[in-house]
Amino acid sequence: MHVRTLTGGVAAALLMSMPLLSGQAVAADSPGVSAPSAAAARVITYDAGGSAEFRSAVDRGAAIWNESVDGVEMRPVASGQRANIRVVADNGWPRAVTTSLGNGTVYIGREAVNQGYDTVRISSHELGHILGLPDRKPGPCSSLMSGSTAGIACTNPYPNAAEKAEVEGNFGGAATAPSRTPVLVRD
Ligand SMILES: [Zn+2]
Repeated sequence: MHVRTLTGGVAAALLMSMPLLSGQAVAADSPGVSAPSAAAARVITYDAGGSAEFRSAVDRGAAIWNESVDGVEMRPVASGQRANIRVVADNGWPRAVTTSLGNGTVYIGREAVNQGYDTVRISSHELGHILGLPDRKPGPCSSLMSGSTAGIACTNPYPNAAEKAEVEGNFGGAATAPSRTPVLVRD
């Protein structure tokens, strides 16, 4: 749904700035293009090349956000391009470093995975931080941002209604969002 909206927005913008360009396909396949239309999703790219065995979980986490919200869309970065989000695996506890809304680094920490926490929930939770959500701990399994406090039995990787609405609000005003000092969220 938002793919169609985005494509339309980008194509419309290109047509306005380049009236002689005939094909919409040029716009549709350009990764990293941020759509200027207010109605279109903001595209942010992620690089999961360093996420090792968690790569499919990271892709699933991004896809869940794409299914859940309209205001932002996460796409794998094209090779050779610099991504908005870098996702890496390490042996620590999962955490995120946010540099500004939609930008930062996610660490899929094996310490939590080894304790039994779900890798897709970890991935979508950490991506949630990059999308501007704080932790909501302790909290129930229905809350994505309750993180580890929901226990290892909790495998829910989906944001609840309030979390989705908060991300929509964050990206609704993203064009004027100031950059922030890097913030580390250790889960
Ligand atoms: Zn967290």
